[in-house]
Amino acid sequence: MLEPGVIKKLDEVVVNRIAAGEIIQRPANALKELLENSLDAKSSHIQVNIKSGGLKLLQIQDNGTGIRKEDLSIVCERFTTSKLSKFEDLTEIATFGFRGEALASISHVAHLTIQTKTASERCGYKANYSDGKLVGAPKPCAGNQGTIITIEDLFYSMPQRRQALKSPAEEFQKISDVVSKYAVHNPHVGFVLRKQGEQSALKTQACSTRAENIRAIYGAAIAKELMEFRYKDDMFKFDLECQLTQVNYAAKKSTLLLFINHRLVESPALKTAVDAVYSTYLPRGQHPFVYMSLMMPPQNLDVNVHPTKHEVHFLYQDEIVDRIKQQVEAQLLGSNATRSFYKQLKLPGTSELEDTQIQDKTQRIYEKEMVRTDSTEQKLDKFFKPLEKSDSGLSSSSSNETPTGSQEESFRVIAARKSKEVRLTSVLEMQQSIERKCHIQLRGILKQLVYVGCVDERHALFQHETRLYMCNTFALSEELFYQRLVYEFQNCTEISVVPPLPLQQLLLIALESKTAGWEPEDGDKSELAANAVSILQQKAPIMREYFALRISEEGCLESLPALLPQHVPSRAQLPIYLLRLATEVEWEQEAECFQSFCRETARYYAQLDWQDDGDMRSQHWHMEHVLFPGFKKYLLPPARLKQQLYELTNLPTLYKVFERC
Ligand code: ADP
Ligand code: MG
Repeated sequence: MLEPGVIKKLDEVVVNRIAAGEIIQRPANALKELLENSLDAKSSHIQVNIKSGGLKLLQIQDNGTGIRKEDLSIVCERFTTSKLSKFEDLTEIATFGFRGEALASISHVAHLTIQTKTASERCGYKANYSDGKLVGAPKPCAGNQGTIITIEDLFYSMPQRRQALKSPAEEFQKISDVVSKYAVHNPHVGFVLRKQGEQSALKTQACSTRAENIRAIYGAAIAKELMEFRYKDDMFKFDLECQLTQVNYAAKKSTLLLFINHRLVESPALKTAVDAVYSTYLPRGQHPFVYMSLMMPPQNLDVNVHPTKHEVHFLYQDEIVDRIKQQVEAQLLGSNATRSFYKQLKLPGTSELEDTQIQDKTQRIYEKEMVRTDSTEQKLDKFFKPLEKSDSGLSSSSSNETPTGSQEESFRVIAARKSKEVRLTSVLEMQQSIERKCHIQLRGILKQLVYVGCVDERHALFQHETRLYMCNTFALSEELFYQRLVYEFQNCTEISVVPPLPLQQLLLIALESKTAGWEPEDGDKSELAANAVSILQQKAPIMREYFALRISEEGCLESLPALLPQHVPSRAQLPIYLLRLATEVEWEQEAECFQSFCRETARYYAQLDWQDDGDMRSQHWHMEHVLFPGFKKYLLPPARLKQQLYELTNLPTLYKVFERC
């Protein structure tokens, strides 16, 4: 018969060792506890000496308050601390340590010596500890104010643990990592780390700055790309201080130094969020360097999750992580690097021509650059040669014909106006609002999409990673052209209209169309057209100065803004556009005027001359080679555009389908 096992109570020393091993898992853990103690004791200099990755010797010397002689007898017992006395204090604790377990634990798994001197005592004392108990009496000794804690033969009592540890070199690396992070977080404290008998591996000055320490420890490549920002959130009650690299910097290894209430912690949720923001900007597999210090009311922070106290959870975690993510996004979008990235993306020609060909302002559209804008709209055809031919007359120039001389009607791009700095707050606010509303994931999708094909006039397919999407190209184009206008404000290149087109006739054509919705009670069409012309002529200086839309004194349209390389707006829609400019733009208020002008113009530019019957190649070509590159390059999509994207299928789903076959 099998006898049941006899249950025995474990020896207390064994229990304590097991518990201690939970807290002190490797030399770097022990060091973290000791560093926190030294910082709690208000030290301004901390020196760490290491032998054999901290396994033989781990020593930390500080110039803090020291430990009172009378406390030396109990300092290494479990649950002795000078930092907490009632349970309620747990919620208010602002110092690092709080459970009085670190020294006790260390004394269970290593030989521990404390040498310390307070300001009020005449000499220092040295004491040895074993298994939580003072061994012998503290001996008087000479020494400066502060504490030296010496840990020798870590895990001597736990041979398996000792064997499971990595090589001394790797343990040293982990120690160095901890010291580096604390040194960055505490620039007012001078840190030294050295392997015994060697030159210091790391050294920072007391009273340096955080940026200096990052440079000294992590290198100039990171330091020169750093941006700094602070953010205070009243809603979720936290303060954030952050140093992060701009998108020009990328490394294989992701570095996030996270301190919450001055304690080095890990928050996987926050790390994932930060990585997600950067993944939009950095090549795949590349990461930023980020330092964050978060302060929040201690009662919101749950540090008691695990004895090692590395991973924290906090109240409103999702919301806070979300807010931080937004701030990081905003920083990246607003950073100079990103801005200049945007500026570089101006229409081609603008910058090169500025230097070289400033005299020659007229640039011809070459055949290869021409987009066919054929229109079967009879009214417009009539209009393009209004004085010579009747309805049945001409079709407008196609890409097979080269525009020649002034006889040929065409839209031509005039390049190179000198870039002017925009000072108007209304416009700067429009720019900021675009950047603020930019949806970072959507931007990521647009940036990396691969064009698949055109569905119809307003829809196209593209692929992003494993997903196939259909998108509303009209909605995307409309936003794109709006943003181009806002960013090209005062600096638009021109598309010249040759020969200039008389507004009066254009507006009459508009009034004839069904879209205009003219009713007899609206009055005489030519009178209405004349009114509209006079409004447009009155506002001509604004349109010319800010948007490169020129109207001559004789009332002819001479140019339109060029907003995207090779994109020439629809001829068919031009009359309606002009009519809407006269009637829909809020001309009297500055901000509203720019807003509504840009919206109307964007809407016009997004409408393509599209034929159902004829040759569709040029339209498809336009979608693929003009509009989509524009989306990829320039569009900062607001969240509402998400609704204009439909995921049709994705690879995993397709695999499932094929598996069944
Ligand atoms: P805790 O930090 O949670 O209080 P520890 O076991 O880490 O627990 O430390 C116990 C006590 O020893 C501390 O509360 C503090 O009073 C004292 N102490 C430890 N290290 C130092 C130091 N470097 N300087 C001054 N006092 C120290
Ligand atoms: Mg402590």
